[in-house]
Amino acid sequence: MSFLAPRIERIKPSASSMAVRRVRELKASGVDIVGLTTGEPDFGTPDWVKEAAARAMAEEKTKYTNVDGTPDLKRAIQAKFARENGLEYQMDEIMVSNGGKQVIFNAVMATVAAGDEAVIPTPCWVSYPDMVLLAGGTPRLVPCPPEQGFKLTQAALETAIAPRTKWLILNSPCNPSGASYSAAELSGLAEVLRRHPQVHVLTDDIYEHVLYDGRTFATLAQVAPDLKERTLTVNGVSKAYAMTGWRIGYAGGPAPLIKAMIKLQSQSTSNACSISQAAAAAALDGPQEVVRERARLFQERRDMVAALLNAAPGLQCHLPEGAFYVYPSCAGVIGRTTPAGGTIQTDADFVMYLLDAQRVSGLQGDAYLMSPFFRLSFAASLETLREGCRRIREACTALR
Ligand code: PLP
Repeated sequence: MSFLAPRIERIKPSASSMAVRRVRELKASGVDIVGLTTGEPDFGTPDWVKEAAARAMAEEKTKYTNVDGTPDLKRAIQAKFARENGLEYQMDEIMVSNGGKQVIFNAVMATVAAGDEAVIPTPCWVSYPDMVLLAGGTPRLVPCPPEQGFKLTQAALETAIAPRTKWLILNSPCNPSGASYSAAELSGLAEVLRRHPQVHVLTDDIYEHVLYDGRTFATLAQVAPDLKERTLTVNGVSKAYAMTGWRIGYAGGPAPLIKAMIKLQSQSTSNACSISQAAAAAALDGPQEVVRERARLFQERRDMVAALLNAAPGLQCHLPEGAFYVYPSCAGVIGRTTPAGGTIQTDADFVMYLLDAQRVSGLQGDAYLMSPFFRLSFAASLETLREGCRRIREACTALR
């Protein structure tokens, strides 16, 4: 009998966390590597946020807080939802966790049991399916190819929903595809959801502020207020304010669900770091221009990376609508032969070839559940991105 529980055998380690670690180790051992795996902005945390953290330490805000977050941070979140999303949440409809990741984990663990299903459009963030599996549920993966803009259609949603569907997990803008749902597209999905009252919707809005070409962000509870009672609106400060290491995420949702999530967190991690909570409140309450300015910089990088990748033989890169990743198709290199004599059979082979031959790291589409694609992060300087794309082009050109 295995010492490990079956639930741990059902899941795999996060591919992105592992890849980032591998790049860090290679760099530390002196390898000249262009790392494009990272899922975090390369900018610094704004100074006023760091100052708020220093003040919190000086004021001895170093003790346990309420499990669901400090009243100060929860008020800042309440104000953020009202100001930016037109959503009114009461204090018992809001909770704070150690990153958006724990918010989603709490929600899934508090609701999904054996036999329950969660509809997940793919390509998707690596953690959703594994969280559902950990809870004993079944991820119902719905392929959303580039011809659909990597988006879930009404028809595909209708087909995917079953009597035991507990959740639709919707991530917009999406990691890895950048697909971003407009208010009209969300209204279309809402029409389907109205026919299936057993389905709750988890909207992962963590890339809300990384949106391009003048798009306006929309979230389901705002577009379809009648569905607010079965929508969990998830967000966090990691991507918007370059605060990935601070570990603060939050959600607004129906009070009974939030209460269950708090109960779970009270028996696992308790509150998120008290200093980080003070910093997150300062980020949400502070000036927001920095967020828009950084989105402009990301857009410049996106344009350059997509153009350079499209010049590489065998690759086809769409223009993402949001987030800071490209998800090019590498279908054109599958079946080709490397200078060392190997055959590229999968996107994982291609990503490994890029690392071995040109020391540039990306992530295989396999991890995001749509192949043959690969993900590159453009949260890096223009110079690094130019060099990374040059190496990728060279690697593609060398294939026969
Ligand atoms: N959701 C998506 C789509 C993500 O890409 C990430 C991080 O990469 C998260 C949630 C979790 O972010 P955090 O836990 O840092 O708030």
